[in-house]
Amino acid sequence: MSYWKEVINGGWSLIEGMGVTVRRLWRPVVTVQYPRRHLPLSPVYRGHTEFKRFATTGTHNCIACGTCERECPSGVIKVQGIKQHAKSDKVATHYFIDFTRCSLCGLCVEICPTQTLKYSTEYQLAGENRWDGVIDLIARLEEKES
Ligand code: SF4
Ligand code: SF4
Repeated sequence: MSYWKEVINGGWSLIEGMGVTVRRLWRPVVTVQYPRRHLPLSPVYRGHTEFKRFATTGTHNCIACGTCERECPSGVIKVQGIKQHAKSDKVATHYFIDFTRCSLCGLCVEICPTQTLKYSTEYQLAGENRWDGVIDLIARLEEKES
């Protein structure tokens, strides 16, 4: 008896499953064939941070003040800079973020006195180890130039 009960239950769930498939068959498709097709990003999407390029300097405006590094709650920013001359402003030479630990809280973007940081639209980051998530924002800006 339990054998036939199982057969009937199995047959019924098969019919139910096929019913769902048939009902969905005529509805508009809501999925996209990624990566051949991409959906438009939301204007409020937050990728990892990156430097803006300013027309006045032709590059970023990071003065390596270290404010973002100090205030970052995740402690994932490392910035270094040099002064070309005694009286010149400091300019960042290295700016790394470890995006694997960034919470995208936005403090660094908000707090930057030169407003040189923004969110990127990057959403396809992948890596083979955790160090692939460490991003050099200066190198990234230079890559965009070429
Ligand atoms: S978004 Fe927040 S956690 Fe990420 S680097 Fe900026 S301050 Fe740090
Ligand atoms: S990104 Fe802004 S806050 Fe951070 S070191 Fe550069 S100038 Fe200072």
